[in-house]
Amino acid sequence: MSGQTYFEALRSQLSEASRVAENEPLAKRTTLGVGGPAEIFIEPSSEADLAIALRHCAANDLPVFVLGRGSNLLIRDGGIRGVVVSLQSEFFSRIEVRGRELHCGAGARLKHVANAARDAGLAGLEFLEGIPGCVGGALRMNAGAMGTMTIEAVERVRFMGSDGRVEERPAAEMAAVYRSCPVLRDTIALGAVLRGEPAEPEEVRSRMEDFRMRRTSTQPHYRSAGCMFKNPAEKPAGQLVDECGLKGHRVGGASVSHVHGNFIINDGGATASDVIALIEQVRALVLKKTGIEMQIEVQIVGE
Ligand SMILES: Cc1cc2nc3c(=O)[nH]c(=O)nc-3n(C[C@H](O)[C@H](O)[C@H](O)COP(=O)(O)OP(=O)(O)OC[C@H]3O[C@@H](n4cnc5c(N)ncnc54)[C@H](O)[C@@H]3O)c2cc1C
Repeated sequence: MSGQTYFEALRSQLSEASRVAENEPLAKRTTLGVGGPAEIFIEPSSEADLAIALRHCAANDLPVFVLGRGSNLLIRDGGIRGVVVSLQSEFFSRIEVRGRELHCGAGARLKHVANAARDAGLAGLEFLEGIPGCVGGALRMNAGAMGTMTIEAVERVRFMGSDGRVEERPAAEMAAVYRSCPVLRDTIALGAVLRGEPAEPEEVRSRMEDFRMRRTSTQPHYRSAGCMFKNPAEKPAGQLVDECGLKGHRVGGASVSHVHGNFIINDGGATASDVIALIEQVRALVLKKTGIEMQIEVQIVGE
């Protein structure tokens, strides 16, 4: 690379409107608020710039990680090596209502999508209101709430491969299953068309308010990554943790929420190591007391 660093090479190839940074702190970009920096951080302003960046990474064997709003992530304290791509620029955050369709960029916040549908008198997207992610993360995780999964509200998905090529597929061909969309494991969602059904805005508003109340009365208000463990077949993970007497159990600045046993909260300057140690202690104690092995739902990434 003629003496240029990867950072310099990427900076020189992308347009001025795209952000490129070195050692970008990531903790503040996650809801749990822990973890180290990104070695190189890119916020592309267009699909063309994203394609250039991905081709450069592929040609130089640079690992790429795509960050949504960091609400299902636990980033280790050493941070993420290689390139972290964030689609939070204006271009990727757009939401356009066209008839019954909402054309959304991957960076659009789910709350804003739900609000746009409500304002346009479209029902069916209320469940997105309280999920603190963006469209890309919701597609990848096939996030769901109140009985609906993201993929059920989607018409089609636009995504990019590591060679920069763009493809668009109907939702039915995305092979999405419970909390996963494997097609997006090695590709990046660029956006999606979601669908609503005409309804009275007041009805939609009242359903959203009902969903919001249900959440605020059952979930903690501290920083967290949502439900930490998958629900085992036997019973909900939160109930298991509670029955094992682990609510309030603490390692450093991380503790098991008193409000919901499946939430690990950062209530005092936790590190990722605190959270990981607490997860392991909770799993080991639940296994010892009940014989049930809990699996982690949140993605743990980085060094
Ligand atoms: C308080 C709280 C409540 C929650 N409630 C729910 C809930 O009710 N239901 C639910 O399902 N989840 C819930 N979650 C978890 C989380 O909000 C969802 O999993 C959400 O979909 C993650 O989106 P994100 O944008 O934050 O993705 P991130 O956490 O940033 O990333 C998650 C995964 O998606 C990948 N990704 C992100 N963007 C893209 C993209 N453009 N293309 C391809 N891959 C991408 C990342 O690489 C990573 O693998 C909750 C979390 C919190 C903190």
